[in-house]
Amino acid sequence: MKNIYLDNASTTAIRPEVVQVMTKILIEDYGNPSSTHSLGRKSKSILELSRKSIAQSVNAIASEIIFTSCGTEANNWILRSAVKDLNVQRIITCKMEHHAVLYAALILEKEYAIQIDYVKVKTSGEIDLTHLVELLSQEKKTLVSLMHVNNETGTILDLERVGRICKEHGALFHSDTVQSVGKTAINLKDLNIDFIVASAHKFHGPKGVGFAFIRKNSGLQPLFFGGEQEKGLRAGTEALHQVAGMAKALELSYSSLEQEQNHISDLKKYLISQLALEFPNYKINGSKDGFYTILNVLLPFTHEKTAMILFHLDMKGIAVSRGSACQSGSVKPSHVLAEILSDEDLLKPSLRISFSYCNTKEDIDVLIEALKTI
Ligand code: PLP
Repeated sequence: MKNIYLDNASTTAIRPEVVQVMTKILIEDYGNPSSTHSLGRKSKSILELSRKSIAQSVNAIASEIIFTSCGTEANNWILRSAVKDLNVQRIITCKMEHHAVLYAALILEKEYAIQIDYVKVKTSGEIDLTHLVELLSQEKKTLVSLMHVNNETGTILDLERVGRICKEHGALFHSDTVQSVGKTAINLKDLNIDFIVASAHKFHGPKGVGFAFIRKNSGLQPLFFGGEQEKGLRAGTEALHQVAGMAKALELSYSSLEQEQNHISDLKKYLISQLALEFPNYKINGSKDGFYTILNVLLPFTHEKTAMILFHLDMKGIAVSRGSACQSGSVKPSHVLAEILSDEDLLKPSLRISFSYCNTKEDIDVLIEALKTI
């Protein structure tokens, strides 16, 4: 049975060229980048070339790229240090953020008695920017933390516009760009944004590595202590094979961006047309103009069939997700869909179908056929 993998917002298959780079480093370049002997210097050079390559991909300065173990770590670090070291007294975020932001903010609220404000969300899943401006009219040192692409619905935030609003109101701006880095062009020189984060396994790189972009002179302080790595901002021996694998994955993603974007956008359009044909009462959750890699749909199935749907698809070798991956095994409805769907619709089955360059039209046909037999 062929596996049909349509859960790419959860994680992606690693590209073979990335494995090659990583394997070579694991075997040959095992020196510690902090060692001064030649093996160490070779590793340091690979590390810095990786940093430079990643920085170029997003139009940042190399020293603004700090390697972390994942997107979750980078989000936690930025929020925590903003409160602890940059005197942020309020975080403005939204209830549809990933838990790596939402839960980090809640802990900070408890620990530091900061204020958390949630921007209103429209039924399309888009952020109400008028409400954001209203919230920002309060005089308080603020960090705005709003994600670029929602991992469940694919709703897109206008980084340029929000960056401008934050600048006008003297607020810091952090964006969780885990779903968009490597999948759309990001030009950090042109954006008023202080911090972004990325995770390699979302763009066909290895798991267990990510990076934070920390705008020069931001004053952010480390989360960990005990080493001078990453200019003292992230102590711990660098996982060189992971970092070089991430740099290779990002380079490949951006060099084939247009072609892959067209391929994936066509697949998404095809899926929408097939759903409309076979399940005329289906609905798209979130914006109709969501990000090209994600489609979240509500299917017109009965309540009894809802519980069985993922199991049924899994039996046929089809991997999709209900809400986000971390919640697919849980009975709780997605916190993201809970913000935009009625109580009645929340009980119906919603599927997140997320694509990559590896998918084909046949994958969609198999999915549709499987859904028809439920
Ligand atoms: N932020 C978003 C939007 C995500 O989709 C994810 C992964 O699901 C994360 C953060 C966490 O990233 P990581 O798996 O690298 O910790």
